[in-house]
Amino acid sequence: MSARIIDGKAIAAELRAKVAAEVTRLSTQHGVTPGLAVVLAGNNPASESYVGSKAKATKEAGMTSFDHRLPDSVSQAELMALVNKLNADPAVHGILVQLPLPQQIDAQQVLDAVDPTKDVDGFHPVNAGRLASGLPALVPCTPLGCVLLAKTVHPSLAGLDAVVIGRSNIVGKPLALLLLQKDATVTICHSKSRDLEKIAASADILVAAVGKAKLITGRMVKPGACVIDVGVNRLTDGSLAGDVDFAAASEIAGWITPVPGGVGPMTIAMLLENRVRAASAVK
Ligand code: NAP
Repeated sequence: MSARIIDGKAIAAELRAKVAAEVTRLSTQHGVTPGLAVVLAGNNPASESYVGSKAKATKEAGMTSFDHRLPDSVSQAELMALVNKLNADPAVHGILVQLPLPQQIDAQQVLDAVDPTKDVDGFHPVNAGRLASGLPALVPCTPLGCVLLAKTVHPSLAGLDAVVIGRSNIVGKPLALLLLQKDATVTICHSKSRDLEKIAASADILVAAVGKAKLITGRMVKPGACVIDVGVNRLTDGSLAGDVDFAAASEIAGWITPVPGGVGPMTIAMLLENRVRAASAVK
């Protein structure tokens, strides 16, 4: 193995310590304690686990966590009423609606109802539009974390060739926009892209956000590239793997993120930072 590991866990821990210091400052100087409301409907085990980790990290950073658990049978009207109540609550600076929502719910309508200034997930169309226009916005946490990881390798991304594989609204698209803002030359690939191998192999920064284990082979990695693996895939033996064939890619890349311990911890750290930003805006 020649690639150096980008230790997302350690970088996220540093960030979380900075966030905790900012929480103390907001609290002592302005009497504001950032609060996050998490809305969880139904009993999806993966969602339960994500919400649990977010609540734990929230409390560790000195913030307040408000948990709202709703039954799988919740109605659209009940969910909308809760979101409206949280929008109006001054103790709530961030609202996170855990996806997926039960099948009878129109998830987009719920996400659109969140006050954009409390949208710490950065999923609201107002924030997506502001990001696309280069205006200050609350930006989705995973792409923010990916850019920070890439910047630990290349403090300036200007002029570098970045290839993002995946074009979802929560990872691929906002990440491509963030990389463009940092003056990288960005290519976005998706399931219809032709010659993925050739495009990927041209990247100084290669990000995989697909959800298919080992999609990215060693042949798709440029020698010395910085490889960021967003994918989280559960293998048949119960273990977790990214989208990148880690063993093969590590032989060729210059830097690589592991799964777990790469992008995942950064997502939670960036969520905390987004919340502090939302709380600072109202102090
Ligand atoms: P998604 O909404 O399912 O999007 C997947 C993207 O991959 C789509 O744009 C799709 O293309 C593209 N794709 C599918 N097959 C492909 C192929 N063979 N070649 C090239 N592109 C292909 O997924 P997501 O929400 O962005 O998440 C992606 C992965 O990241 C998942 O494993 C998810 O669990 C993980 N994730 C991790 C974190 C974290 O904190 N670590 C956070 C969020 C997501 P089309 O648009 O053409 O369908």
